[in-house]
Amino acid sequence: MLDISKQFLSEKYGVSPEIAQEVSNAELTCTSAFSRVQEICEFNQAKVLHALQAEQVAVRHFSGTTGYGYDDIGRDTLERVFARAFGCEDALVRPQISSGTHALALSLFGLLMPGDQMLSITGKPYDTLEECIGLSGEAWGSLKSYGIEYGQVELLSKGGIDISAVLSAIQNNTRMVYIQRSRGYAWRDSLSIDEIELVCLAVRKIRPDMQIVVDNCYGEFTDTREPVQVGADVIVGSLIKNPGGGIAPTGAYLAGTKRCIEKIANRLTSPGIGREVGSWASGYATFFQGFFMAPHVVAQAIKGAILAAKIFADRGFRVMPLHNQPRNDIIQAINFDSSDQLTAFCQSIQAASPVDSHVTPYPWDMPGYQHQVIMAAGAFVQGASIELSADAPIVEPYVAYLQGGLTYEHVKIAIMIALSKLS
Ligand SMILES: *Cc1c(COP(=O)(O)O)cnc(C)c1O
Repeated sequence: MLDISKQFLSEKYGVSPEIAQEVSNAELTCTSAFSRVQEICEFNQAKVLHALQAEQVAVRHFSGTTGYGYDDIGRDTLERVFARAFGCEDALVRPQISSGTHALALSLFGLLMPGDQMLSITGKPYDTLEECIGLSGEAWGSLKSYGIEYGQVELLSKGGIDISAVLSAIQNNTRMVYIQRSRGYAWRDSLSIDEIELVCLAVRKIRPDMQIVVDNCYGEFTDTREPVQVGADVIVGSLIKNPGGGIAPTGAYLAGTKRCIEKIANRLTSPGIGREVGSWASGYATFFQGFFMAPHVVAQAIKGAILAAKIFADRGFRVMPLHNQPRNDIIQAINFDSSDQLTAFCQSIQAASPVDSHVTPYPWDMPGYQHQVIMAAGAFVQGASIELSADAPIVEPYVAYLQGGLTYEHVKIAIMIALSKLS
């Protein structure tokens, strides 16, 4: 690190030269972990570049449309680019899908009918789905209120899917096997593509017709393949996470088999209309460009997560994953000692943000979450967690989930600022 950097960080942020040195030393021990990330990034960049070229993306695809959006060539081309890059038949990529949860709900309501069972095989799904499924609250229109059943298989205590338990949990009316790839807000490992492949094979062997849906949030471009390339029918994710590259302003996607995407499109708009409507007046340039940037931005975020893992582990905190363990999402879990320390950490990440750095986040009752949550997100796009952000439910064992970072350098600086505030 240049002397001018150390001096600047010390003057402007109160980062001591010792902390700057500590972080620079930790960085040196991450070299081989970084180079693996770089290799994956290079492949994914080639894959996305080729998809843009093969679909002959041109400036006219960036234009907006109005009204019904019939023959919206930008929208349709964007969807073909996603499908091609993810190695599947079809995709819906829409700014009108407001979040990852919205997209996941579309997959559930689009693919399940009354009397069917949804079987989650990675334990309890992400918090925001609880009311959607009907596990908590009395939300009108939940899966439960439509008579759609729910079953759950816990992850093995050592991590990973309990395949034999899954196979015996499948009933005649089980019509969907549901997998969450990322750790979300749970102290557990994310799933590797190889592991998802094994499960898909095992499930298909006994039920070739099973609809396998993967919550792919935070997982895109962390490996060279996506779950739809190893047997899943549908993957679902948010555009203000990995595949939006920090540039897409809103939206979410679903990608997979033609049949499943068609069913989901009927739920997205209306039966009989499906994917044929949906305009977006401000145009699609940011979605194309964001997707082009995504492999690189994901790699930046993962390198930042690796550095954080190394530094906080060296300081004696429990971290997951360790800096040199494989990564299948962009999240770094760090276990703090108290709710005060947890809150202070999230506040320091906010203070290190490019936007809203002068405001202080506090724990609050967020819609869809069971505990109070603190969210540090000083982002250009509201709530975008491909940008550097830290979230934590205020509940023991006081784990902060750090993710994102449009540039590795920013994450590194933020870590130094956080260390200064903690010590
Ligand atoms: C973020 C996330 C969701 C939900 O996404 P929102 O866009 O916040 O609605 C679902 N599952 C996982 C694993 C996530 O990380």
